[in-house]
Amino acid sequence: MSNSVAEIPFVDLTLQHQPIQSQLEEAILSVARRGDYIMGKALAEFEANFAAACGAKHGIGVACGTDAIALGLQACGIGQGDEVILPANTFVATLIGVLRSGATPVLVDCDLETALIDLTAAEKAITAKTRAIIPVHLYGQMVSPSQLLNLSGNHDLLIFEDAAQAHLAEREGYRAGSIGTAAAFSFYPSKNLGAMGDGGMLVTQEPLVRQTMQSLRNYGAPRKYYHTDYGTNSRLDTLQAAVLGVKLPHLPLWNGDRNQIGKLYDTLLSSLRSQGILPIKNLSKSGHVYHLYVVRVTEACPIDRSTLQTELSARGIQTGIHYPLPCHLQPAFQYLGYKLGDFPHAEELCQQILSLPMYPGLSNSQIHQVVDVLEELTQTPALLTFQTPSSLVPG
Ligand SMILES: *Cc1c(COP(=O)(O)O)cnc(C)c1O
Repeated sequence: MSNSVAEIPFVDLTLQHQPIQSQLEEAILSVARRGDYIMGKALAEFEANFAAACGAKHGIGVACGTDAIALGLQACGIGQGDEVILPANTFVATLIGVLRSGATPVLVDCDLETALIDLTAAEKAITAKTRAIIPVHLYGQMVSPSQLLNLSGNHDLLIFEDAAQAHLAEREGYRAGSIGTAAAFSFYPSKNLGAMGDGGMLVTQEPLVRQTMQSLRNYGAPRKYYHTDYGTNSRLDTLQAAVLGVKLPHLPLWNGDRNQIGKLYDTLLSSLRSQGILPIKNLSKSGHVYHLYVVRVTEACPIDRSTLQTELSARGIQTGIHYPLPCHLQPAFQYLGYKLGDFPHAEELCQQILSLPMYPGLSNSQIHQVVDVLEELTQTPALLTFQTPSSLVPG
């Protein structure tokens, strides 16, 4: 099918960098001139500014979000013999982080409409060994802080937020990173706040967690050549911190843009509910920072997800699937003993979800274009019957 309009990428980072390009270059150059590449001035500044933006007292920069989870749990005193509850439908790094801390992961199902951890299922999974729960603020929407605080209060659980997709997200008056003992963030380039490479941070209210984390990321040495912990080398590069420091002041604007885009999608897509296209529910109004905008292509849809994705792509609209296989069905983690059918909602979502283009700068006309094409594709299935649907993912 021919297509006269420009392509719509899934994500476009150049748009957010263009207006601040000279500031970014200047920040990078100033680190190069100073030469303080490791634990330099820009790192300390960014740690303080980012923690403050999250409503947390301390920020400790690390090499990536996965390390923020793995080392962060350790810094909270969690390890071997402890059970940690987390959702089955998250990016696999959440699970890897728990395993690396030495703790035992306990997966639970999610809510079908929000795709967030099902806190009722989480409560049922609590045992005498449960020490912590990891709410993953998936797609940019926080897990309900009030319900989390209730649960943790009733069962004496530590809350460790995976906020890798939820920089500055808000819900019920709380900001991501400020609910629990500690929270992990990622600065992978395509995250809401992204570096020009890998990066991550743990934020915490607890001075002791901060102190241990600073040691763990730096070979376990609270001071040079004196090692009190079995640590590693995982620091946020000063260069990356300088880049992130330039971008941070713009984040509220970018997030606001994402939220507006989400709202417009929601409005325009409401007419496609009868066609089986159901957006993931936003229960946090303007506090949702839409790292991703995800719809469910349900059985009521006259066209299956895989064909829909192919046809969208043929019309210049790039989409993604986050994520095609839940953690408990990943080959690497079969040894944990989970099987198909254990988490029906997570498994169903994996078959249905489709992430639409979402990034600051995506224009209203582009959003209309995406929805128009979706409308066309879901209302004229007869035209598409020649398509061979590709095989479904397992699970
Ligand atoms: C990106 C991400 C991580 C891992 O962050 P990295 O910086 O890539 O290591 C962890 N959890 C979630 C939910 C993520 O989206």
